[in-house]
Amino acid sequence: MKQKRIELPPDQRVTQWYNVMTDIPNGVQPPLDPETKQPVAPEKMARIFPMGLLEQEMSDKRWIDIPEEVLDIWQIWRPSPLIRANFLEEAIGTKAKIYYKYEGVSPSGSHKTNSAVAQAYYNKREGVKRLATETGAGQWGSALSFATHKFGLECKVYMVRVSFDQKPYRKVMMNTYGAQIVASPSPDTPTGRAILERDPNTPGSLGIAISEALEDTVSRNDTKYALGSVLNHVCHHQTVIGLEAKKQLAMVGDYPDVIIGCCGGGSNFAGLASPFVPDKLDGKKIRLIGVEPASCPSLTKGIYAYDFGDVSQRTPLLYMYTLGHDFIPPGIHAGGLRYHGMAPIISALQRENLMEAMALNQLECFEAGVLFAQTEGIIPAPESCHAVRAAIIEATRDKNEPKTILFNLSGHGLLDLSSYEKYFAGELSNYEYPAEAIAEATRHLPKI
Ligand SMILES: *Cc1c(COP(=O)(O)O)cnc(C)c1O
Repeated sequence: MKQKRIELPPDQRVTQWYNVMTDIPNGVQPPLDPETKQPVAPEKMARIFPMGLLEQEMSDKRWIDIPEEVLDIWQIWRPSPLIRANFLEEAIGTKAKIYYKYEGVSPSGSHKTNSAVAQAYYNKREGVKRLATETGAGQWGSALSFATHKFGLECKVYMVRVSFDQKPYRKVMMNTYGAQIVASPSPDTPTGRAILERDPNTPGSLGIAISEALEDTVSRNDTKYALGSVLNHVCHHQTVIGLEAKKQLAMVGDYPDVIIGCCGGGSNFAGLASPFVPDKLDGKKIRLIGVEPASCPSLTKGIYAYDFGDVSQRTPLLYMYTLGHDFIPPGIHAGGLRYHGMAPIISALQRENLMEAMALNQLECFEAGVLFAQTEGIIPAPESCHAVRAAIIEATRDKNEPKTILFNLSGHGLLDLSSYEKYFAGELSNYEYPAEAIAEATRHLPKI
């Protein structure tokens, strides 16, 4: 019998995060202050983030100790299992070995809980009483609601109106963890009120929700802000995924030739892939593949430039592959992965040719998700379906080539069944973000 599930023994658990910035040739560019165009002073960011996280954001330490308090809570689901997808392999008839790291075992159902717990811990340590955040599809809001409750912090989540209406169970989940949640735009902030007055039926957007959460944060002195992806510290927290996977593969005497993750803001892919970057720099032949939706192709079609992290131009400028901060995600698309930019860490890996990017259409991704569910049993989150599809593409490129593929199953899709329902009903279609829209967006990029 093949060993299906590879569990990491407790004495081998990961106790340090890896900071890939210290190994990327030519480094990762710092965030800039939009007014002065100079690197942002940490003191200026201290209004919205705790120092513990800001230090990690700019850290030049290669390894960062994971606090005991974080490890304690992580024990609920970590180490997460590494699973051999042998049933999927048989179904597609490949000689390739496929392994997936399963992050859907976390309480809120995705990898986001890893960073949520860490962020709640550093805020608590610095006396913060309350966190404000935004959530699109609801994964991040659920993760942070759980994490804040564990540390006795209050949590206010601004959830994009359209998801709030389409995914009622996400709201119940956040309420169960004790968080306060409102549909964004909300009557609770000046920006929200202004937008509601103009258009009471607006579906909202991630940009609006970010603006509301930031306004909430700066209007009170007991509150800080939390972001679930993109930033360096979030990518560091997620490296536990790749560090564990490396040890688990070693337990069965294996090492990956191809490493795959889906990319929204880039954190779960960074988490799985970056611990393998030093080996790649040492000359090991490994391919790192980030998979994005063709409807939001920041890595494959975006521009590498300084841009705002949000529509309302409130954030520092980040150096990243971007579709422009005024990118509007097409409404016909089901899953997450709809952020206009890519994590500066991932952008730098792409610039240095340490990774490659692949853009896929949503229909083929759902098709792969259904095959995965029917063979391996787990219904993947729509985002994770992109990684599944890419793994199948790589495994069937040459079915007789014996290679080892590792991908991240970043979350389960049990709260995204309405997307599957639409897929089965034929209500989803493919959409490629038009080149003209990208050209137009370049004209709105801040001038540096
Ligand atoms: C949020 C999310 C993603 C995309 O975010 P990244 O920062 O790119 O990881 C992917 N998969 C799942 C399940 C998510 O919840």
